[in-house]
Amino acid sequence: MRFDVLTIFPSLFEHHPREGILGKAIEKGLVEIYPVNIRDYALDPHRTTDDRPYGGGEGMVMKPEPIYGALESVERKDRSIVLLLTPQGERFDQAMARELAALEQIILVCGRYEGVDERIRELCIDREVSIGDYVLSGGELAALVIIDAVSRLIPGVLGGERSAEEDSFSDGLLEYPHYTRPREFQGLRVPEVLLSGDHEKIRQWRRAESLKRTLARRPDLLEKARLTPQDLALLEEVKKELQGGVHQG
Ligand code: SAM
Repeated sequence: MRFDVLTIFPSLFEHHPREGILGKAIEKGLVEIYPVNIRDYALDPHRTTDDRPYGGGEGMVMKPEPIYGALESVERKDRSIVLLLTPQGERFDQAMARELAALEQIILVCGRYEGVDERIRELCIDREVSIGDYVLSGGELAALVIIDAVSRLIPGVLGGERSAEEDSFSDGLLEYPHYTRPREFQGLRVPEVLLSGDHEKIRQWRRAESLKRTLARRPDLLEKARLTPQDLALLEEVKKELQGGVHQG
């Protein structure tokens, strides 16, 4: 997967992607990240990339010509998409990450100030994406979030394919809780079932915990989750357990 990131702060992409799983993916040649400095495509000697808004008002707007020039400089692969990072876009989630991971190239346009001139949206953007209902100072962190979440789904990036399959959201549920050594920490013991060596029991416990957690924290996810008849039976038990807890309390 190739990511081209249009930004006025290309140095923000120097360190983060070199560490951890993403760093290894780059070393293995599975992921490539190319920051493109929008300033290099400014038309004046001062390399200006923003200007005052027509109609007046606070803040500056990113000029269209440098972004347009930067986009034209990017070599396009067959299956590529141009995303604009904006709080006004579709909300990014695991399903969108999966869709994007099937492409060959993602071009990310990072805004700053009040955002980009509207004509860039109209002329060049395939999809507008938000990483959540809050306002960041720039699109760069949002671009890194998308790069990270999409890269994890590219075959070969994680050690075993299973880890991505079991992550939260992959089957519509939140993941079960994790424990490692020591067996007891600050008076809290690891659940016995995880020490039993009985793989079927462990699998069932994890599924039940996953359902319990999703019901307690994100009940909205259960409506769309892929649930087996066994899951539905477990869910009924979990609901009864929780209702019992409420009556007792
Ligand atoms: N005035 C804009 C508005 O109200 O929609 C917000 C501009 S924001 C200060 C500057 C830039 O940060 C945006 O152009 C966008 O690229 C990025 N940005 C801010 N919040 C974001 C979010 N939640 N998701 C994705 N990008 C975001």
